[in-house]
Formats: sequence, structure tokens, C-alpha cells
Amino acid sequence: MMGKTLDIAKIRKDFPLLETKVYGKDLVYLDNGATTQKPFAVLEALDAYYKDYNSNVHRGVHILSQKATSAYEESRKKVAAYINAAHSYEVIYTKGTTDAINLVASTFGRKYLKEGDSILISAMEHHSNIVPWQMICEERGATLKVIPMDKEGVLQLDLLPSLLDERVKLVSFTYVSNSLGTVNPVREIIRQAHARNIPVMIDAAQAVQHFPIDVQELDVDFMAFSGHKLYGPTGIGVLYGKEKWLNDLPPYQGGGDMIKTVTFEKTIYNELPYKFEAGTPDISGAIGLGVAIDYVNSIGLENIQAAEQQLVTYALAKLAEIEGIRFIGNAPERSSAISFLLEGIHPYDLGELLDKQGIAIRTGHHCTEPVMDFFEIPGTCRASFAFYNTTAEVDVLVAGIKRAAAILI
Ligand code: PLP
Repeated sequence: MMGKTLDIAKIRKDFPLLETKVYGKDLVYLDNGATTQKPFAVLEALDAYYKDYNSNVHRGVHILSQKATSAYEESRKKVAAYINAAHSYEVIYTKGTTDAINLVASTFGRKYLKEGDSILISAMEHHSNIVPWQMICEERGATLKVIPMDKEGVLQLDLLPSLLDERVKLVSFTYVSNSLGTVNPVREIIRQAHARNIPVMIDAAQAVQHFPIDVQELDVDFMAFSGHKLYGPTGIGVLYGKEKWLNDLPPYQGGGDMIKTVTFEKTIYNELPYKFEAGTPDISGAIGLGVAIDYVNSIGLENIQAAEQQLVTYALAKLAEIEGIRFIGNAPERSSAISFLLEGIHPYDLGELLDKQGIAIRTGHHCTEPVMDFFEIPGTCRASFAFYNTTAEVDVLVAGIKRAAAILI
């Protein structure tokens, strides 16, 4: 993968929080899988919205409302272009990935799931791509089936044909595992599912910020992601859905904006995308997300991908030199999360000692308890990288782990 070498020192100046000191030490922020830091451009856009044109959308003829509506809708176009959706009305704003998956589980489930049917997910899903399906399956008398993985954290695709039987009504799986770093073979899974006329949903929460995704080329039916993991604000996310599916499914929530006309006898629902956006949306969040996408585009997603791959390769090699380290997840295709354990040390203890050295990593089950059960571990330590991280920070992490190990063992 070729990419232009990025001027990381210059880029880091765009992110005020990266300048922070914790416990008097330079912050080393390696918890980007949980959420990313925000560039000035995004913070300024939020500020400008509230200071200069705070107003509700789609409701007023007055100038402020027009301005807010236009910024909100322009942002939708940016999101659509970012994932190459055929139409901007195929982009539904949600609260985040979790909300987007719940939307599909609820609406698709209500319309299409009946007793004896099943939903197929994978063994490495985040809880947000398990529980919503479990809930609707329980309600409809359907079952949840799982594509297993092996000890490297790779899905066992040889089992897919037998899992994709006529009872499966939808396949939903993660593009990139947040706890293992595995990049899943989306094209192959979609190909096999579509060959049996089964629609596919992708959880792209750990993917859209790391490499280009073209929903038309993938031919995916639904895709979810969160703004806050893409350098945008919290509280905003996206559901992409093919027009035919979004027109076909019933609304998720009822309320303002999602209607054309209302009488006590009957409501006529609004057209896309508003049919799925009941109530006042996260206007500033949507605008901020659009600006985050502008920012990412200004750096170039291919350049980001190349820089992050280099960083992860470096980190894997450096971490491997630590005595007693065990990586959880060794897939050949991987993205920027590295999960590991140190022999004889509980991940929480290591996380705490790293924190005291100014190093922010994530410890625990990462909302993937079935993954931890599979590996028979209580949790992992996870370092997750963004393009603004440096090899010097990796060195600080490695030295920090060694220092912690010397104390704990
Ligand atoms: N799916 C994956 C793979 C994730 O990593 C996350 C968050 O960590 C989510 C879903 C849930 O995202 P959110 O909490 O933003 O809805």
C-alpha cells in the first residue's frame, strides 16, 4: 500500500487534546478504538453552529433555520460521498453504530423475522451487534447463529456455506474486530450471502476511519458507523441502507420530521431519509461529522491507511520483544487494534500502571465478552492507533509495559 508520507508533527497540532499532560507526563493516547480525538476544525464547527446559527432544521422559513438545514444536509452529502453511496438519502443519521444496528434489527425483524428463522452474526461481534439481534430474535421466536472463529481470531469461512441455510434472513458482522484487530473478508461473505438472496449488514465502526469503503462496490445492504470514532463528535452516527431496503422497511421511531401528514386515524410517513429520523436530530453532531470527513479527506484516507499500517507493523514487532507477551488475535489481515496479555499480570493492573505513566490504553472485554470466553481470558490490554500516533509513542508504550512488569512480577 503506497501512501504519501504524512507530516505527523504538523498533523498533531490540529488536535488540541494531544498536547495534554496527565500526571505531569505527555499524554500517549492509544485508545482510538474507543474514541478518536477531535481536530480544531470539528471543535470550531460545533462552536460556530451554536454561536452563529443555532436553530432547528427542516422547520423554519427564517434564515437561521435555513442555514442550519443547509449545513445539516450538506454534511449528509459528504457522508454519502465518503462511502460512495448512490444517493445521499441512503444516509440516515443515528446516534451511532449501536443505534443504527438497533434500527435495522427492530425494523427488519418486525417485518421479516418469524418463528424458526435465524440471523447470522460472527463470533467476534461487539455487544452492539449481538444484543439487538438477540432481542428481536427472542421477540419473534427466531434464533441467533454464529460464524465461528479459530484461535488466530480468523472467521472459519469453510463453515459459511452450511450456515447459510434457507432460514437465515440476514447476515450481520463486523468489518474489523475491535478486540482482535481482524479485518474480515467482507466481499466473500457478501458474495455467498447474496448468492442465496440474503441481505448483509456490516458494522463498520472500526473500519471507516482506517481505509476507504465503497458501499456500491461492496454491494452491502446496510452499514453502520459512529462519528466519534471518525474524528467527529459523539452522539452522531450513520446507517447506510440501500434505497430499496430503506423504502421497504417500516419506520423505527415515530414523531416529528418522520411524517408527511398526521391525523388521529392515519399517518403518512415521510420520504427517505426523514422517515428514519424522528424528532430533532443531533444537528451540531451531523455538521461536525461532515467537517471531520473534510478533515480526513484533506489528509487522504489512503495516506492514513499506509501510515497506520506502518505504525501497527512497528508496534507488533516492538511489543513481540517483551518477555511473556501473548497477542490475542493474530489474523494475517489486521487493522490498528492490538490486543495482548502479559503472563502473570491482570490486564487491569497493567492498564492502571500505564495510566500513571500517561499512557492511555483500554483494558477489559471491550464489549466483546464472547471473544473473551472463547479465549478463556478475563480481558485484554488493547492499544489502538490513529494516524496521529508516532513510533516514539510506541516506544513509550513498550518501555511503560516493561516498567509495569518489573513492578508487578
Ligand atoms: N461495533 C464495534 C466494532 C465497535 O468497536 C463499537 C464501539 O466500540 C461499536 C460497535 C459501538 O459503537 P458506539 O458505541 O459508538 O455505538
